[in-house]
Amino acid sequence: MLVVFLGAPGAGKGTQAARLAAKYGLPQISTGDMLREAVGAGTVLGDRVKAIMAAGDLVPDDVMLELVEDRLAKPDCAGGAVLDGYPRTRGQAETLDPLTRRLGLGEVNLVLMLDVPEDEVLQRISARRQESAGGNGRDDDRDEVVIERMRVYRERTEPLVEYYRATGALERIDGVGSVDEVFDRLDAAMRTTVQR
Ligand code: AMP
Repeated sequence: MLVVFLGAPGAGKGTQAARLAAKYGLPQISTGDMLREAVGAGTVLGDRVKAIMAAGDLVPDDVMLELVEDRLAKPDCAGGAVLDGYPRTRGQAETLDPLTRRLGLGEVNLVLMLDVPEDEVLQRISARRQESAGGNGRDDDRDEVVIERMRVYRERTEPLVEYYRATGALERIDGVGSVDEVFDRLDAAMRTTVQR
């Protein structure tokens, strides 16, 4: 079972992907977390992507493909995975299916598009930044970087909604409400897909 989360920055992908992955016993693959870890550890990859992430831009597709390929090839992904933050470009989406087929994982079964209006995601990111003020907040939650991340999302990632609508995997989920309410909607879509 391969599940992909789509949604604007601040839509709640990370939180909901973690819950869904735990409930269905699937690993959560968060490319943002993996990259932040690499930056924190000062690896070659981390040094390469640090400035890109700080600016709110996207890491090149070839770098991402290698990272995701290594991760999906690990034994814990044999039954599938919940992808949170990947794919984010048309190029990434187009190379994902051949990759997962080659690894014996089949194709993306379900794409959960978390739909949250832009003014609400901006409020959520601002709340996330205030909660972590002075602590270990995300560098890229600063105002000007958030604006760039939203622009990049609209331009590069939002077209994937149409891409996955065409494959029949897309489920648009209303992402407004409490974490539990939104989770129930996601879980309902997941159950329907599992039963198919
Ligand atoms: P996230 O935590 O998912 O918002 O990701 C944080 C940052 O990591 C993004 O703003 C990008 O710079 C980078 N990143 C994460 N996933 C991808 C991806 N699939 N393609 C390119 N860059 C990514």
